[in-house]
Amino acid sequence: MNTLIRNARAIFFAPESSSPNTAAGNKSQQAAGDIRIRDGLICEIGTQLLPADDEQIIDATGCVVWPGLVNTHHHLAQSVLKGVPEGLNQALGDWLGSVPYRFWPKISPQLMYHAARLGLYELLRSGATTCADHHYLYHAGSSPEVEDAVWAAADELGIRLVLCRGSATVQGSHKGMLKHGIQPESVELLMQRMERSYRQYHQAGDNAMRRLVVAPTSLVHSATADDLRTLAAWARERQLKLHSHLLEVSFDDIQAQEKYGQRAIDYAASCDWLGNDVWFAHLVKSDEYTIQQLAASGTGIAHCPTSNCRLGSGIAPALAMENAGMNITLGVDGSASAESGSMIQELNLAWLLHRAVNGADATHAEQIIRWGSHNGAQLLGLNNCGDIAVGKAADLVLYDIGSPRFAGVHSEVIAPLLCAEPVSVKYSLINGRVVVNNGQVCGLDEAELVAEVRAGVADLLRSAG
Ligand SMILES: [Zn+2]
Repeated sequence: MNTLIRNARAIFFAPESSSPNTAAGNKSQQAAGDIRIRDGLICEIGTQLLPADDEQIIDATGCVVWPGLVNTHHHLAQSVLKGVPEGLNQALGDWLGSVPYRFWPKISPQLMYHAARLGLYELLRSGATTCADHHYLYHAGSSPEVEDAVWAAADELGIRLVLCRGSATVQGSHKGMLKHGIQPESVELLMQRMERSYRQYHQAGDNAMRRLVVAPTSLVHSATADDLRTLAAWARERQLKLHSHLLEVSFDDIQAQEKYGQRAIDYAASCDWLGNDVWFAHLVKSDEYTIQQLAASGTGIAHCPTSNCRLGSGIAPALAMENAGMNITLGVDGSASAESGSMIQELNLAWLLHRAVNGADATHAEQIIRWGSHNGAQLLGLNNCGDIAVGKAADLVLYDIGSPRFAGVHSEVIAPLLCAEPVSVKYSLINGRVVVNNGQVCGLDEAELVAEVRAGVADLLRSAG
């Protein structure tokens, strides 16, 4: 369907770099009212564009238009594990045992499907159009239907999905795995299963809807060095990207030193796990040396400020990383440690948090929106996404700023970042297809979703004991 978006109050154009200077900032404020979309691509941007016969019209009166937000780290399965009482006040190590590892072997394909729908719903209604889901519900006896449920949910809602295929190939990579009797996959079984996913789901191309990424759950803990090298080679043969958790807490450095006699970052390098096709979630405990190695190799970060606050892990040095040349992107992380599941929450907190530490001019709104859109798309290799420009994929979000809570804002185009949740996405388009229509996420019934999730959680609690 070809579309003409008309009468937007303002359109956000990302500055050409994240460098927070006034000239770049001014560019984002440039107003232009209309966007024409043909065959999924933006083909014209202007004012008072005349509709063609074959176009649907979207009235953007009262809305600001942003590029769709790109979430580079999530765990959709955790959408049914919000606020688990035992984990509410625990730090990462204990929390992993009390929350995700306790429940994940018990998550059925059906519950995974509802969890994925819920997590994707939360992303869509906060302005995301792409989700990288670090999905790790695999073990020796796991069913492929659990992963299939994630792909199916994304397909039905029309959101771009990058499935980062988690794994553990060593016994007892976390005490929670041992405690809950979870048997790891062998690396041979893992590659056999990944080959199936690759053939069935992965798409190449700069605006692909489905991508597979090789993503052992924790770089230091989930695999041997040989397994990591094997996985990196397997991924690179197929031009797949690589992702994992790293340095969320200091334990990674301590363990790397104890087990391998080197810093975590040097261990990553020795396993072929640095490069411009690699990104890590968190990297909170990165010192100057680690940042240098990451930047020099082109490795990126999914910065997840809400989860890092919630688990008391600290604040990733994202500004120092950006100054060193790293690509900074934003991730919601799982809703078991970031209950809002909202990309706007993540942008707002990133904007504020680095100011609290570094001063009022440390972050700029345009820079943060760029982290959450352009940078994320580049990181995932979706090179035709993440920007509003002629020729780019039409991944667009129309935030309605007509309600009282946005009234009085002088800088309207950045109002959703400044005022934060609750935001109101009136329309959202992905590859030109409408996925949020007049405030409703297409393809699901909200009341049904809540009922399915509640029933699924009740079953899960019964089976987990
Ligand atoms: Zn994570």
